Amino acid sequence: MNAGEKPETPQAVKGVSIRKVYIAIVIAAAAITAWLIVSIYQTIDSYNALSAAIENYISCQHDVDDLMAASDYLTEQTRAFAATGDRQYLENYFTEVNETRRRDDALDRFETALSGTDAYLSLKEALDQSNTLEETEYYSMALMLEAKNMDRTDLPEALQAISLSPEDSALSAQQKAQKAQDILYDETYVSFKDSIRQNVQKCSDALIEITKAEKEQNATQMLQVLHRQTILTVALLIVVFLVGLLTAVLVIRPIWNGISYIRAQQMLPETGSWEMRFLARTYNNMFWEMQKHHEKLSFEASHDALTGLYNRAIFEKQQEAWNLEQPDNIALLLIDIDYFKSMNDTYGHSVGDEVLVKVAKILSRSFRSEDYVCRIGGDEFAVIMVNASSALKDLVAGKLERALEALRNPTDDTPAVTLSIGIAFSDRENPTDSIYNDADAALYKVKNRGRNGYEFY
Ligand code: GH3
Ligand code: MG
Repeated sequence: MNAGEKPETPQAVKGVSIRKVYIAIVIAAAAITAWLIVSIYQTIDSYNALSAAIENYISCQHDVDDLMAASDYLTEQTRAFAATGDRQYLENYFTEVNETRRRDDALDRFETALSGTDAYLSLKEALDQSNTLEETEYYSMALMLEAKNMDRTDLPEALQAISLSPEDSALSAQQKAQKAQDILYDETYVSFKDSIRQNVQKCSDALIEITKAEKEQNATQMLQVLHRQTILTVALLIVVFLVGLLTAVLVIRPIWNGISYIRAQQMLPETGSWEMRFLARTYNNMFWEMQKHHEKLSFEASHDALTGLYNRAIFEKQQEAWNLEQPDNIALLLIDIDYFKSMNDTYGHSVGDEVLVKVAKILSRSFRSEDYVCRIGGDEFAVIMVNASSALKDLVAGKLERALEALRNPTDDTPAVTLSIGIAFSDRENPTDSIYNDADAALYKVKNRGRNGYEFY
């Protein structure tokens, strides 16, 4: 767990903002969706127009058929009357002309749907011709009525109004009946019928053309809209894919990475979107502050505030370890400043503090970095030398003498001080129960002897 360098403030973070990206994507998706909805309605419209064109064709074709059928029906009824003289056929004829009116109704409906078109004009022509043919049919009926000497009063006025030519009036009843039939089969009548049939056929052809054109137009339109829909659907899929990709790259991956860094108690790498980087940097700042705080607390818990040496807690921890397992290669030095109380009294407490700091400094300098130099009381210090045996006695003595010498002859403003030091090695002769007690006994000896010196147990 290493705090490393302090990260910059989160405000300085740069990167792609996922918020801005998503706003752009949402706008694009909304535009595409709106366009798609419009396209769907256009497809429905085209489909409706197409089916309306087909329905219109079917109903118009019915009208065309109706008109032709009605014309043929009139011819049939007239011919039947001319052949038999049965008034029923006349009634059928006039019912068709005046009541059923299939031909007129067909043209009326046609006019509503296709007024002004070639189809309409052809059908109108056919009806006009059929109406013209009525005159011949009325004349045939008049001939037959005369031939059979039938009452005309209950017949339509148009028929009553027909008067035979003088030559025809002069014909015998049989001749009149014969002529009534002949004029319905002669060339003029038949060619008129053909002409009606041709006009009806022309109307049918024109109707097919109109329907075809309409179908073509609607189908083309529908196809265009379907193409557009395909493109829009693909665009929407791309947008969805982009959302997934951006979320993965800008958000999900940084989160996964971040979790492994948090587990490893490390600072987070700043990756992904601006927001993720901001969060990472904020976390890193808090992490850094927390680490610094933690380091400060653990330093304070293990070090003496005045001298910066290890404190009594650390010294006691070492002692606890010795209780569990007797050390076989250490030297313990217990050090006490002589007459420190009177120094405080003479020079003041702050000078006393300066002396404590100076003693700490000289002791630290005198020993190796792996040795533990501790302040364990007011003017008491302890040094635990690791990997040390009695063989180092002379070396230790040399170190202590140099330290004592330096303290006795200060080169700064602090007053001269002396130390009393008791030393015990783990491989000492005649050890008692603890190395501490033996070092303390050695210290006691020095104090008793008059201080300013050291003694090995
Ligand atoms: P001796 O030679 O027997 O050791 O006599 P001494 O005067 O040094 O007696 P002792 O070791 O009992 O006195 C320790 C004194 O250290 C008592 C206290 O006033 C002083 N002292 C303890 N802590 C501090 C400190 O942090 N700063 C200063 N200036 N003095 C302290
Ligand atoms: Mg003392």
